[in-house]
Amino acid sequence: MNIILLGPPGAGKGTQAGMLVADRDMIQLSTGDMLRAARTSGTEMGKIVADVMDKGELVTDEIVIGLIREQLEGDKKGGFIFDGFPRTLAQADALADLLEENGEQLDAVIEMQVDDDTLVKRIVGRAAEAVAAGKEARADDNEDSVRIRLMEYYKKTAPLIGYYHAKGNLTSIDGLGTMDEVKSAISAVLNGGDIIGNG
Ligand code: ADP
Repeated sequence: MNIILLGPPGAGKGTQAGMLVADRDMIQLSTGDMLRAARTSGTEMGKIVADVMDKGELVTDEIVIGLIREQLEGDKKGGFIFDGFPRTLAQADALADLLEENGEQLDAVIEMQVDDDTLVKRIVGRAAEAVAAGKEARADDNEDSVRIRLMEYYKKTAPLIGYYHAKGNLTSIDGLGTMDEVKSAISAVLNGGDIIGNG
C-alpha cells in the first residue's frame, strides 16, 4: 500500500509516518529528511538547497523528483509513505508517472488538517524544546520561516487537495487530536473500505 501524508508544516506528518513504519513495515520517504541529509553532505546540491530551505521556500521540483525517483527502485516492504512530497502539482504528476513506471499505484492520500495558530505554536515550540535539550533547532523553525512555509503551502501545495479529490484518492482527517487519536484516524482510512479507487 502506497500513501501520501499531505498537510502543512507542523501537521504531524513525520510523527505519523514514523508510527506507520514501526507498525506496518512501510518505508517513509521524507523529502525534507533527504534534503537535510543532502545539505550536510557538502555536495553542490546540498549548498544550493540549504539557502532555499532556511528561508522556508520550496526546493526545485527537479531536485526533489530526482530524490524520490532513486528511492522507488528496490525493496518496497509494506509500501511507501510519501511525507512532504509531492508539494506541487508538477511533483504530483511526476509521482503518478514514477509509480506507474514501477508498477505501483497510489492507495490513499490523507490530508491532516491543523489550523495555522496551532501549526506556528507547534513549530516554534519544537524549536524551543530542541534548544532546551541542548540540541540545535532546525534553521527554518523560526517564526519568519514558518510564515513563509505556510504561505508556500497554501499557494503551491494546497491545490493538491483538489487534485487528489478529483482523482478519488483523498481522505481528510482532523490533525488536532493526540498522536494516538490521529494514528487511529489514519488506521481507519488504511483499514477501511472508504478508499475510493483502491484496486
Ligand atoms: P515541514 O513539513 O515542517 O515544512 P519538511 O522537513 O517536510 O518540513 O521540509 C523542510 C523544507 O525542505 C521545506 O520548507 C522545503 O524548503 C524543502 N522541501 C521538502 N520537501 C520538498 C518538496 N517536496 N518540494 C520542495 N521543497 C521541499
